[in-house]
Amino acid sequence: QVEMIDISKSYDKQTNVLNDINLSINKGEFFVLVGPSGCGKSTLLRMVAGLEEITSGLLTINGEPANHLPPKERKLSMVFQNYALYPHLTVEQNILFGLDVKKVNKEERKRRLKETAEMIGLTDLLKRKPKELSGGQRQRVALARSVVSRAPLCLMDEPLSNLDAKLRAQMRIEIRRLQRQLGLTMIYVTHDQVEAMTMGDRIMVLNEGKVQQVGKPITLYNEPANTFVASFIGSPK
Ligand code: ATP
Ligand code: MG
Repeated sequence: QVEMIDISKSYDKQTNVLNDINLSINKGEFFVLVGPSGCGKSTLLRMVAGLEEITSGLLTINGEPANHLPPKERKLSMVFQNYALYPHLTVEQNILFGLDVKKVNKEERKRRLKETAEMIGLTDLLKRKPKELSGGQRQRVALARSVVSRAPLCLMDEPLSNLDAKLRAQMRIEIRRLQRQLGLTMIYVTHDQVEAMTMGDRIMVLNEGKVQQVGKPITLYNEPANTFVASFIGSPK
């Protein structure tokens, strides 16, 4: 569903922050992008979303060239690193922001809101403002706003980084459940190797803008391509 061919990115025309990225993500796949801070994960995700220009190479979404496709036409939703909720809007209004009012009529909006809130456990919180919520609840609102659109492709940028360990473990399971239930294709960014190993159907390890390895968690663990992958994944080899 998402393909990158020889994609490179530079912000200043001198240094590449991403180098010759090749990847092919299948429909319904949970694809994890992992690597240390500054390796280019958010940049890559933002290029898929259309929020960042592609310097060279080809991006396709659903087999169509997408380098210059406007973000709104990409049929995707995104959860940002800092949730980006509107503080002055209620939970309900924040969730509904994920819907295009021109495309979805009032009845349908109501139905989707109800269904999504139930699915994510927000039904009792719809009238609150973000500041009246815990970190985990805010995270759920961001998740709800993203899936309410029913876009087939979902991009998440470190959505759990602000949560404590226990909640993080719980949310990993919930995100996977939701992704399966809705049949979403997911590109999930994290710098946490445990998250990558427990959530990913496949994982791509990035370091300094270069792909180190792409494969199933078990493959990365048993057959790391190099010492970077081995030490990052915590493989015994
Ligand atoms: P983190 O885990 O800390 O979020 P990341 O892997 O998401 O890191 P990016 O945000 O993609 O990393 O940044 C990759 C590189 O590009 C970094 O060196 C960063 O300083 C640089 N960079 C990011 N955004 C810009 C920008 N708008 N202009 C110039 N350089 C940028
Ligand atoms: Mg980032």
